[in-house]
Amino acid sequence: MSRLDGIELRRIDLAFRHAIDTAAGSHRRRPLVLARVVTDESEGWGECAALADGTSVDPDADTVWQALVEGLAPRLLAAARHRGGQVPADAVAGLFGGGGVERMGGAALEMAVLDAELRAAGESLAQRLGASRPTVAVGAVVGIPPGRSVAALVGAVDALVERRFVRVRVKIAPGFDVAPLRALRGPPPTLALQADANGAYRLGSEGPDAAERLGALDALGLACIEQPLAPADLAGHGELARRLETPVALDESLSSVRRVEAALHHRACGVACLKPARLGGVVPARQALARCREAGVPAFLGGFFEAGLGRSANAALAALRGFELPGDLSAPTDYLDDDPFGYQPVGDGWVTVPTGPGIAALPDPACLERHDRARRWLPG
Ligand code: MG
Repeated sequence: MSRLDGIELRRIDLAFRHAIDTAAGSHRRRPLVLARVVTDESEGWGECAALADGTSVDPDADTVWQALVEGLAPRLLAAARHRGGQVPADAVAGLFGGGGVERMGGAALEMAVLDAELRAAGESLAQRLGASRPTVAVGAVVGIPPGRSVAALVGAVDALVERRFVRVRVKIAPGFDVAPLRALRGPPPTLALQADANGAYRLGSEGPDAAERLGALDALGLACIEQPLAPADLAGHGELARRLETPVALDESLSSVRRVEAALHHRACGVACLKPARLGGVVPARQALARCREAGVPAFLGGFFEAGLGRSANAALAALRGFELPGDLSAPTDYLDDDPFGYQPVGDGWVTVPTGPGIAALPDPACLERHDRARRWLPG
């Protein structure tokens, strides 16, 4: 194990090629917070998943940046000083806890320490994890089109089918659900179609009840309905899971290992969308995956429109048993205008799990310079 000499925090500003619209809001900019740890043997990079705008569950990039600079990175350095200069990657997640900011910031630091360890050992992340699948299936995501155009949605999904994606997740919201999904389900159904509501429905509230509204989707043979209700409402999701034929998937509700356990206890999800960055990193993501496997609940790896580093880490994780459904692993070039890290090419809906030392290639310094916004060096 090597001595931690310091942490550089960097912030760059990328842009989405097209605005990403969901029931939770619209994203245009993609600020990227990065951590670089420097040891006496190597360096390692970590990518923070936080987006420009936060949600009730996930913090925004500004907030995580501030927390990393003022509290989280200094805590990692202090922990290293206490342990003779070293903190193994497996122990990083345990330094953080509490809310979403700590988990998401801690996940970026864990990734950087892990990347440095892997580079020093000449090992890939997949090797370290014991992930044996050489390729993993990629699921595609389509946002709510501008003007809620059903024709635009059908066109976008057709283009993905043409590119041989086998599973497509489309964003829905009250008022943009039954008709667009029916339009996509022209007979015969050729692909696994999944609807993602980002918590936009309410059970038993004024207006049509969510269970009735979503029950109309049962006839369409969807692979699952993701996060129909608010993240905190596990009992409601349990009730919905009993009333609907379509499996209920949870995403935003699964914000920590304990929440995953609670959701499984409530039988609130038949499919789990696990996001390592939200759960606090690789170590808690593996714990969450183990809980899902014990419960017989298939999982897929969810993303935050990462750059190539975060996506490469996720591709290696997605090669673990338990991640049985295609994950959010499409190429960052599909949605970002630039990417300092690069990614394995995606072909026919599959991506090769990276095998080089570390998590991904080192970033292109010129690209980092082009989009540079801020940097801080914290010595060990
Ligand atoms: Mg989702």
